[in-house]
Amino acid sequence: MKVNRTRVVVIGSGPAGLTAALYTSRAQLETVVITGPQLGGQIATTHEVENFPGFPEGTTGPDLVEAMRAQAEKFGTQYVYDSVTNVDFEHGTPFRVETGSGEVYVADAVIVTIGANPRKLNIPGEAEYVGHGVSYCATCDGFFFRGKDIVVVGGGDSALQEALFLTKFGRSVRIIHRRDELRASVALQTRVFANEKISFTWDTVVEEVKGGPNGSVTGIVQRNVKTGEITEHPVDGVFIFIGYDPNSGVFNGQLATDAAGYVIIDPLYRTNIEGVVAAGEIHDQTFRQAITAAGDGCAAALTTIDWLQDREDELEPLEAIAEAGD
Ligand code: NAP
Repeated sequence: MKVNRTRVVVIGSGPAGLTAALYTSRAQLETVVITGPQLGGQIATTHEVENFPGFPEGTTGPDLVEAMRAQAEKFGTQYVYDSVTNVDFEHGTPFRVETGSGEVYVADAVIVTIGANPRKLNIPGEAEYVGHGVSYCATCDGFFFRGKDIVVVGGGDSALQEALFLTKFGRSVRIIHRRDELRASVALQTRVFANEKISFTWDTVVEEVKGGPNGSVTGIVQRNVKTGEITEHPVDGVFIFIGYDPNSGVFNGQLATDAAGYVIIDPLYRTNIEGVVAAGEIHDQTFRQAITAAGDGCAAALTTIDWLQDREDELEPLEAIAEAGD
């Protein structure tokens, strides 16, 4: 087993991770980004990005990711296209991070930006039409549905809040919920019930997303769970808000999380382990934007840079250490 010694390991490569790497590598700290299964994270699968400052004509998710990747690389960031399968934070710095292919990275500081994923319905057509009518982000994609018919799936705060936002754009917004009672707060329910553009379909699940020859969503197949009735409906957009899952499982028992699995940080982005900070959606359940994640990554990196600077005299010189077995 090869052991790679570096100063900073960034776990995750979304806007938080790539921004953190830009800052640490530009501060002359040897930085390795372990990208995870998808370089760029969620934004990499967003077709158009119109709300990231600096792009008056808009950009695409993949273009934004490539620009961020290249910018951090320019200052020396190295990329490992693999996922983290194991970490040892408990024994303090230097920390040990292991990837799926068995490589080990030993770093003086770790920046955790591993993100969260919107839950999927896992129905036919869902993955196929992501970015072409299926979306998990109203702020990102709502603008493309001006004058269109939209369905929102879910009955929690996210579904209702995003449905309200989508009424700014859509001709109609129909919320499809699997029960006849909402999980969302009463305050949100009151606002949603008062909105004339929003209607509800209760006790119903979406079973399939249909698309047309132009590659975009044209309709859904839904099933009433009480009567079993299956019907097909024309729609232009399917927004799915059935919760999020933070990717914190690999840190179980080491990083402190809340009950939902989000990593707990202090105002300086420090976790319960000294030398390990966290940024982006692994802690943020509220904003979930590329720009807020990037800002988080910057702040977490600045904390890391300061922390390493304070320990400069104690840090051992870096050299690749080949280690057999382990
Ligand atoms: P959530 O509260 O877990 O709600 C998920 C909703 O999706 C539930 O209504 C659930 O149905 C439904 N659902 C789950 N799996 C499903 C499936 N496979 N098929 C169909 N429906 C499914 O998630 P969230 O709305 O994203 O909220 C997450 C947290 O963030 C909550 O604590 C929430 O309060 C908070 N939040 C707060 C605000 C705010 O304060 N304004 C805004 C957004 C989120 P059931 O009800 O039947 O389980």
